[in-house]
Amino acid sequence: ESRAALATWNGPGRTADGVPVKILANVADGASARTAAEAPVQGVGLFRTELSFLNRKEEPSVDEQAAIYREVLDAFGADRYVVVRTLDAGSDKPVAYATLDGEENPALGVRGLRLSFDNPGLMDRQLDAVAQAAKEAGTEAWVMAPMVATVAEATDFAAKVHERGLTAGVMVEVPSAALLAHRMLEVVDFLSIGTNDLTQYTMAADRMATDLAHLTDPWQPAVLQLIAITAEAGRQAGKPVGVCGEAAADPLLACVLVGMGITSLSMAAAAVRPVGARLATATMDVCEEAAEAALSAADPTAARDAVRALLL
Ligand code: PEP
Ligand code: MG
Repeated sequence: ESRAALATWNGPGRTADGVPVKILANVADGASARTAAEAPVQGVGLFRTELSFLNRKEEPSVDEQAAIYREVLDAFGADRYVVVRTLDAGSDKPVAYATLDGEENPALGVRGLRLSFDNPGLMDRQLDAVAQAAKEAGTEAWVMAPMVATVAEATDFAAKVHERGLTAGVMVEVPSAALLAHRMLEVVDFLSIGTNDLTQYTMAADRMATDLAHLTDPWQPAVLQLIAITAEAGRQAGKPVGVCGEAAADPLLACVLVGMGITSLSMAAAAVRPVGARLATATMDVCEEAAEAALSAADPTAARDAVRALLL
């Protein structure tokens, strides 16, 4: 799309023929939220709460956590919403008061939601803090858990979130969750696909390993298939399914995701205009054709080429 279209695109997210797609921001704290709130986004699709606690030795009190969450909620006010992710500590993001020392294989260890198996109070206090912050701010808060692998985990998590009057979802970043998306959607209100980890765990390739970049590519056909399964489950359930990993920030791939049935795209603020402007040039029919072409391509290069040819 032209530089002019990029500069003038001002939201809200929609295809060329007017199908709405929520364009949302990924944020880490109050400061990044205030910056993101200036962009034409309908809210936050991923608030990475653990990033506020990476250098803490002790768990912050409920009041202190609520104050931190409140800053992000306040940046978006009453007419936008914020998806708060519960603590995704462990693996590449150790949090001193939460994570275990000396795991041999931390990416496959006790990370994300799994921390609450032996320490349910940690999750309870965080959910109390989110509920308190949402009430004070008057901003709609949705809450989702990272690293969910089973329907039982989703069921327990959703019960805790619903008890507090909030909207509950889980992240799809483990292949098991994608394969069971239809059953996950029987117990939660929405799904959000974390393509960074979904790619890592589907391809068994460390997302940080630059040598493996050809494998840690969300255009890999196996990753696209799992995303399509998840999106289709959302369509059938009539519930929102978003993407909040790096894949959502790729304008071509964003059109493919929308063609699969993805209802929101959440990304770094810098990607909002390129993605929004590109999506505005493609009709839903073209997005669906792009999705089919990408899914049937032999490899990432062929998928990109096929989609580029359709969208230009
Ligand atoms: C992801 O895994 O795609 C994701 C959005 O979460 P994070 O990058 O914080 O692991
Ligand atoms: Mg992740």
